[in-house]
Amino acid sequence: NTSQPRLPEFLKTKIPTGPSYTKIKSDVRSLGLATVCEEARCPNIGECWGGGKKEATATIMLMGDTCTRGCRFCSVSTSRAPAALDPHEPENTAEAIKRWGVGYIVLTSVDRDDLPDGGAAHFAETVRKIKQRAPHILVEALTPDFQGHLPHVAQMATCGLDVFAHNVETVERLTPFVRDRRAKYRQTLDVLKHAKAVGARVTKTSIMLGLDLRDADVDVVTFGQYMRPTKRHLKVHRYLTPDEFARWQEVAEGMGFLYVASGPLVRSSYKAGEFYLENILR
Ligand code: SF4
Ligand code: SF4
Repeated sequence: NTSQPRLPEFLKTKIPTGPSYTKIKSDVRSLGLATVCEEARCPNIGECWGGGKKEATATIMLMGDTCTRGCRFCSVSTSRAPAALDPHEPENTAEAIKRWGVGYIVLTSVDRDDLPDGGAAHFAETVRKIKQRAPHILVEALTPDFQGHLPHVAQMATCGLDVFAHNVETVERLTPFVRDRRAKYRQTLDVLKHAKAVGARVTKTSIMLGLDLRDADVDVVTFGQYMRPTKRHLKVHRYLTPDEFARWQEVAEGMGFLYVASGPLVRSSYKAGEFYLENILR
């Protein structure tokens, strides 16, 4: 049975256009980069890539477009042995970001369980290159769990990034059904906790509702609607209304998070959140 609810009006978005959209798209191609915006078919691409130069933002996906994991909500392709890392990627990524003139950038990556360090050195090097070339750009890194290996978490958390983000994605009960079996709920909390303990300025996660996150000292949380990328992915169980998102916003704010973004089109790299973080970090 592949039936699922109809897409409500408030989730329908415009076809992306505009000069900054075209510029980002061509740089991404020519420098051989990948973006979550495209790979995850994000509905906000028109807004994020099409904003004026300063507001434009993109989420760069490092270490290739193929993941060693297979989460059931994710449209990124999976392989046990993805292509080798591109040694020029840290440099090329820094170059592209500097050209776009953005104030805030989100970097993320596929999970590379095939690499001895999970790609921690490569990811950290990319952050350092960006900071060398454009020190004013705030960098948020949405990292893998490095299979819970804390020295790699620390290597990332202390590489000069401004926001250490790692997503719980869902509640503990649903984790084994929703995420790849190697992604464990407690492990995710430990990763966040360790990142903060070794000195990350701000830690951030996405989706989870519950007190565990405040206990792990997470600062920022975002809630968004899951949208099914293709028929092979998990079905949408229900579309929440904007009012329901507003209600969850209040609940989370009441728990004492520093910042909460909640809405049908909110994604963990949503620009409203980035503007907020930019303000508190500066
Ligand atoms: Fe890209 Fe994030 Fe914007 Fe989606 S919300 S288009 S993933 S920057
Ligand atoms: Fe997608 Fe899961 Fe891989 Fe992240 S770890 S890119 S969510 S399959």
